[in-house]
Amino acid sequence: MEFIQAKHYRKGRKSKVDTLVLHYFSVVSIDKNNPFNLPVIKDWLANGVPDNGTVVKVSTHYLIGRDGDVIQFVDEKDTAWHAGVSNLNGRAINGSCNDFSIGIELVGGQWVAFTDKQYESLIGLTKGIIKRNPEITKETIVGHEEIAVGRKIDPGKMFDWVKYFNGVFEESQPLTATPIPLFPKVSNITSGQDSTIIEKLKNLLKRMLK
Ligand SMILES: [Zn+2]
Repeated sequence: MEFIQAKHYRKGRKSKVDTLVLHYFSVVSIDKNNPFNLPVIKDWLANGVPDNGTVVKVSTHYLIGRDGDVIQFVDEKDTAWHAGVSNLNGRAINGSCNDFSIGIELVGGQWVAFTDKQYESLIGLTKGIIKRNPEITKETIVGHEEIAVGRKIDPGKMFDWVKYFNGVFEESQPLTATPIPLFPKVSNITSGQDSTIIEKLKNLLKRMLK
């Protein structure tokens, strides 16, 4: 995974991480013909977003490109500036969720679906994040629009939460070993039958070795 250290972030955390915030990101504001220009997006997330001669100091932990490539900008142990003025059910530190959350930006917008490769990468990335930050639960994986109500609209109506959650929280399939039909199923062996099976195996081996 590519790592580019963002300029604008704070070392460390003021709180334990228990929240994951999803966003979308594009450069549609400056380039309508190429809103998913990855080099420009990476530059903005690494150095801040240019705004009338000044720079808006934003960053994210992760970015997922349209092809599913994942780029990290801030260590999970450090605080990225992705949420801005926000609160999760009223909870905030200095008016924001930044201190207790990890941010993921998906290259996208309101006008187009996210790609299958993005969902694939996002699901894998989320599973890893939950492993490293086990206090994050289904309830604390939220969209920016949910923690900055009325101010933000990402990841928006094009983001498929059902597909995403199904991927992250799918029931782990038990490994069912299918026995080779030649012999009785192990589960069917009751005490007393063992010797019979051994006899059968001996006979079978004899026949094979003839
Ligand atoms: Zn956002």
